[in-house]
Amino acid sequence: MPTSQPAFFFGHGSPLQAIEETPASQLWSACGAELVDPRAILCVSAHWFVHLTAVTAMAHPRTIHDFYGFPAALYDVQYPAPGDPGLAEEVVEHLAPAYCGLDVDSWGLDHGAWSVLRHLRPAADVPVLQLSVHASIPLAEHLALGRRLAGLRERGIALVMSGNVVHNLARLDPAATAAGSDWAQRFDAAARQAMTTDPQAIATLDAHLDFALASPTLDHLAPLAYLAGLAAEEGRTCEVLLERLEWGSLSMTSYRLSAEGDPRPR
Ligand code: ZN
Repeated sequence: MPTSQPAFFFGHGSPLQAIEETPASQLWSACGAELVDPRAILCVSAHWFVHLTAVTAMAHPRTIHDFYGFPAALYDVQYPAPGDPGLAEEVVEHLAPAYCGLDVDSWGLDHGAWSVLRHLRPAADVPVLQLSVHASIPLAEHLALGRRLAGLRERGIALVMSGNVVHNLARLDPAATAAGSDWAQRFDAAARQAMTTDPQAIATLDAHLDFALASPTLDHLAPLAYLAGLAAEEGRTCEVLLERLEWGSLSMTSYRLSAEGDPRPR
């Protein structure tokens, strides 16, 4: 019988978190202890933003350095976790009737996944799959897909969603205080209110007054909707693991699926 695994949403921020000691990377390291005998890790990363839902199905996913202008040390990082093609087929069947394709050669592990996993599971000894973020569907549909993830944790699959609730690179301000901009604070607070009381309300964040500034593209916010959907399906809320804004327009706020309210034995 596989051990039931946790589910997280992590604000990943700068790729440098992969090689630096920060509040976020310390959190990822600490959360690693919650993965007890995982069969695999399924990641929903903001950086695989394409026009379909797909799951990686290669035996050896490559480490993708999908960023520019960072120190050489970051390009040297490899995260050599295996894939699991058989499990990828299982996940596709599990998501049905929602359509999900198998990706055998286009993707691998992007930095939204490996910058976190390097701290969460430094041994890279557990198979990792990525689920893409469909670029042309609204938050409500991402949330519905998140609902379909229910049942995977009980099959030994840890779920790691990686994005940023507030992510506006055009508004980055290195001089900004840790508190962040007013609009960023408001949007982060609205997401926090939904995640901790009524996760399915995340689907309506695109009607929030500050949505256009906080999420000019949906890529970094959408992974949150997968954890929200899972929580809604399991009748749970989520706990805040880290609450933090950086450079005025980047939220590092992170969540874990609450242990409370599980109708099924763990
Ligand atoms: Zn990112």
